[in-house]
Amino acid sequence: MARPLVADIDLDALCHNYALARELANRSRALAVIKADAYGHGAVESASALESLPEGQRPPALAVACLEEAEALRKGGIETPIVLLEGIFETQELSRVEALGLWMAVHSEWQVEALLSYRPARPIPVWLKVDSGMHRLGFPPEQVPAVWARLVTAPQYATDLQLMSHFATADALDSAYFDRQLECMRALAERLGAPLCLANSPATLARPQAHGSWVRPGVMLYGSDPLERPSAASRRLEPVMTLRSEIIAVRDLAVGEPVGYAGRWRAPRPSRIAVVACGYGDGYDRHAVDGTPVLVAGKRTVLAGKVSMDMLTVDVTDIPEADIGTEVVLWGRSRYGAVLSVDEVARYCDTISYTLLTGILPRVPRRYR
Ligand code: PLP
Repeated sequence: MARPLVADIDLDALCHNYALARELANRSRALAVIKADAYGHGAVESASALESLPEGQRPPALAVACLEEAEALRKGGIETPIVLLEGIFETQELSRVEALGLWMAVHSEWQVEALLSYRPARPIPVWLKVDSGMHRLGFPPEQVPAVWARLVTAPQYATDLQLMSHFATADALDSAYFDRQLECMRALAERLGAPLCLANSPATLARPQAHGSWVRPGVMLYGSDPLERPSAASRRLEPVMTLRSEIIAVRDLAVGEPVGYAGRWRAPRPSRIAVVACGYGDGYDRHAVDGTPVLVAGKRTVLAGKVSMDMLTVDVTDIPEADIGTEVVLWGRSRYGAVLSVDEVARYCDTISYTLLTGILPRVPRRYR
């Protein structure tokens, strides 16, 4: 029998979450961010599911970080337009951008120069990235009108040019900084008569005033709620990945007996410990503390002891049916109906769902349905 660990990917849930993003986007168009192998869910499989939606319900564009990710999608048969969120990394990449029918973000002077000296046979849609406050990539707002003027007068880019920016605090409930970034972008868009793409998942879910001409959600498509406090809309998200394993051994321990490396967990009462086939060598976060929730046979229990490379240990003292072969869900939806959100697990690992989802390693087979 194969090692009983799998990442089950529910593509119907992905399509459901995308439909929610579209509904919230209202009159804005909603692309789907599928970089980092669709946040660990499989980029080609995720894009195929979204592309198979009926006309009018499928994403008009996808977004990835870089050319290699876009090339993998085209090799996988994906035909939808793809935005390169970080643009190109060297001038020679432009001919591939054109050949693959990609759109690109432009965040640096050298990229503008490269574009202006390139003569594509057909126009390349360009999204001019503005640093409205994230202070990562993009042109400072005061430089944008001059850069815009250069691109908008170049016939190969003039027809499909827009502004984009990224929010630093869209997930926070009350953020003056978000308002400052939005105001900066609104003023620029008005001055230049430019379409805008600003909204990540939290802004798509909770900031309709920032929707612009496109929204750009990522993590919400995979069922994770990025908001500080869930909203009516975010409660409708469905988990896409279920990290599912089984118990491979069981131990009965006397009071005070330690479990695992450094004996971090000690039995506070006569205890039953189940050993589960999933460890940090699969991408489960080693920072998970004792008490991190786990579903065993659909019932909530907790991690007991440090995560090892190939296994972890959970307290099943109160789950008498737990035995070798019993289902264990590290996050996602149990066969018994219960759901454990990846967001909740992330809090016990002092991280965010993004790192847990993208961190599941290739040794864990993805199983699609
Ligand atoms: N846009 C850009 C430029 C990003 O870097 C990301 C994610 O990192 C997204 C959109 C999607 O963000 P989220 O996953 O929070 O929706």
